[in-house]
This record gives sequence, structure tokens and C-alpha cells, in this order.
Amino acid sequence: MPEYFHSVKLTPERCKGCVNCTKRCPTEAIRIREGKAKITEHRCIDCGECIRRCTNHAKTAVTDSLDDLGNFQYNIALPAPTLYAQFSSDISIDVILGGLLTLGFDEVYEVAQGAEIVSAATREYLKKADVKKPAISSACPAVVRLIQVKFPELIDHLIPIEAPVEVAARLVRASRSAALQIPPEKIGVWFLTPCPAKMTAVKQPLGADKSNISGAIAISQIYGELLKAISTVPRDSRHRRATAEGVGWALSGGETRAVAAVNAMVVDEIHNVSEILEQVALGKLNKVDYIECLACSGGCIGGPLAVENRFVAEHRMKQRLEKIRAEDDRRGAVSQAGNPDPEVLTYDRRAIVPRPIMRLDEDIFKAMHKVEIMEQTLKKLPGLDCGSCGSPNCRALAEDIVQGTAAETDCLFKLRERVRDLAQEMVDLAKKLPPPLEKDDDDK
Ligand code: SF4
Ligand code: SF4
Repeated sequence: MPEYFHSVKLTPERCKGCVNCTKRCPTEAIRIREGKAKITEHRCIDCGECIRRCTNHAKTAVTDSLDDLGNFQYNIALPAPTLYAQFSSDISIDVILGGLLTLGFDEVYEVAQGAEIVSAATREYLKKADVKKPAISSACPAVVRLIQVKFPELIDHLIPIEAPVEVAARLVRASRSAALQIPPEKIGVWFLTPCPAKMTAVKQPLGADKSNISGAIAISQIYGELLKAISTVPRDSRHRRATAEGVGWALSGGETRAVAAVNAMVVDEIHNVSEILEQVALGKLNKVDYIECLACSGGCIGGPLAVENRFVAEHRMKQRLEKIRAEDDRRGAVSQAGNPDPEVLTYDRRAIVPRPIMRLDEDIFKAMHKVEIMEQTLKKLPGLDCGSCGSPNCRALAEDIVQGTAAETDCLFKLRERVRDLAQEMVDLAKKLPPPLEKDDDDK
């Protein structure tokens, strides 16, 4: 299998081998070996669930930094709407965007503007007669990767429209390059992200050869500096262009509202998403038109690289959306989605290649044989799913044993049995020992 870029990394020195992360990983990508967590590269979808779970901060996301702006002639920030919810709703979006301009960016273009364009295109797409139902939103890269590894048969259900951030980057890079007469490669386009999967999607895009985004900077990384910067921005600054339709994408259900999908489902949190996709794969949800699937609880607002508590952020975002609606009503502002060039929206679904992880062997006969051995091995394990062996559950340990990456005695219960049997064998052998030779008194 080819190598994949991963944003989520482990710092082994901080790992205590506590197994918290192994049990929450949605693709069972983590094992504890020799007392440390290890991520199986081809299973990881960069959802960031392990970052949330590790209280020892051993799991982190590798992202770019403000220092990287120095490599470009002109720099544009693409803030995710989640950024706005990190601040109290008294601080307007205009002021937050003004703060970004003091951090070294020459310009700001809101991802929410891209979301408005994607909403308009999705509304049109859902009207088509040949849409495979249920259509699944492709905006969350962790969900697209989950489909690649666990449900490759659902790739045809993904909506073939680029994610808002990529649309925003394509538009702004091309237009500024033309307007400022700067070669496109000398323009730095930076996504301010709440999520490691989006960092991965920038480095290794899904559905395109190359991303138009130069890099991704974690919201948590710039938050402190931005907080200081916004105190210097005049309160009457005007930078916001996106409407509530695009900004609302930060919340679970915001996308569904924006695309005006009626017969729709909204599913957030990666384990819930996995359960629903299982139902789609079984053909149980064919009558649903559209499913918005989001890896994080509450939507992007719950991303592991955001700083604010997800519930607080959600509350702030709802207040903010009300304010924006009222303000836009006064100003008569409307979504500027228009009719974008289809090139801007191009997303090649064929480039989403299946990466199945459920198969035990490429050779179908060997795979079937391994399944048989795995089932027999599983029957011998205690079935407690305690995780103390370093695999997330007994089934995963049975699979690891069959694949030769673990031994039955990694299970503490099996190890105890083995030690007891060995001890018994030693006792039995000791009973068979010949009596010690008595030394003759004449030998003295
Ligand atoms: S949660 Fe995972 S990475 Fe963190 S200390 Fe425990 S085993 Fe290590
Ligand atoms: S990022 Fe997600 S898929 Fe990857 S190891 Fe962590 S929990 Fe598992």
C-alpha cells in the first residue's frame, strides 16, 4: 500500500501506554506495544479522536505556523467559521478578521464564502435524477477517509463537489494572482483549521491532484496572538462578506440548512457516523436523500484543534448567527454564491480510491483461511475486551495474532493460564525426579 501523509503524530516519550486512545479509535488503528502506543499508518484517518482522549498530550497534530508566511510574496488567510466561535459574540467577525490582518496576512477570505458556493452547487446536484441515494456530503475529510477504509462500496454516494475551503482557495488564488500580477505559486493561501484531517487533506488532497491551499495552521496555535491582536482593531472595521448561510456550516446541521435538504439526516461524532454508514451499506437508508456526516461532535466547532469548549462555542455561534442575520437584513446583504465556474467545484470521485482495512489478505482464499483461524483464536480469548493486551478488543487481538503481530500470551488472562500450566508442569516434573544420591559414610 502507498504511504499516506498523516497529521496526527505520537510523541513516544509522553505516552504512558494507558490504552485510552486504543479503545476510542474508530478504525482500530492503535496498538500498545512495548508500553507505547503505535499508530498503524494505513488505518488512520486523522480524525483526531486520540488527540482528544490522551490526557498526557502524547498525540498531537502537525500543522504549519505563521513563520511559514515568510516563504511567500503575498499571504491570504482562510479562516474556518469555527474560528469565530472561539471568541465571545460581542467581538464581531469583522474585528476577528481585522485581527488576522495584523498577524502578517495581507488579506482574508472567509471559508464561509466557499461554503455558500458549495451550498448553491449542492442544491443543484440534489435535483439530478441519477444521484445515488442517500447522497453523502464530502465536506468532512475524516468521513471521506472513513468511507475509503471501512465502507469503500459507498464512494459513489459521496457528493462530487469540493469542500468549501478548497473552493475558497481556488477562487482567491486565481483572482489575486490575476489582479496583483503575482505568479500563483508565490501566493500563500493558509487555512486556519480546527481539525487535523483538514491538514492531511491539504497535504494529500482527496479528489484532486494538488490542493490550492499552501498550508494549514491550527486555530489553537494562533489563538493567543489573535486574542491580543483583536484588542487593537477598531470596532467599526468592515471585513465580513459571508452571510449566516456560510458561517452556519460550523455547526452540525448548518450544511443541511444551507443546502435546503428536506429529506435529510444529520450525523455527528465519528462513531455515530460509522454506525450510520453501516446502515447505508446494508441498504437500509436508501429512501433518505441526503446525509450530512461530520466526524466531530457538534460539527467542526468540536474540532480537536479548536480551543473553546464545544458547548460554549456552539452557544456563541448561535448568538453570532442571530446577530449576523439581523445585521444582513438591515444591510440587505445576501449570499454571493452566484454561478461559479464548474472548474472551481471539480472533485474527481474516481480519485477517492478504496483503502480497505477489513480484509485479512489480498488473496481471497488466504483471507478466508485467516478468518477461520481468527474465529477459532477468538473463542479461546476471554471476551472481556479489556484492552490490557494493547489491542482495542479481543477480536482485534485475534486478528493481530493471525497477522503475526501479537501472541496469545499478550492477553494477561492467557498469560496467567500459561504460567499456571508451566508451574504445574514443573511440579509434575519435579515429582518424576530420581531421589538424591545418599553419600556413603566411607566416602567421607
Ligand atoms: S492515550 Fe494513548 S497515546 Fe496517550 S498515553 Fe494513553 S496510550 Fe499513550
Ligand atoms: S487520528 Fe483517529 S484514526 Fe488516527 S489513530 Fe487517532 S483516533 Fe485513530
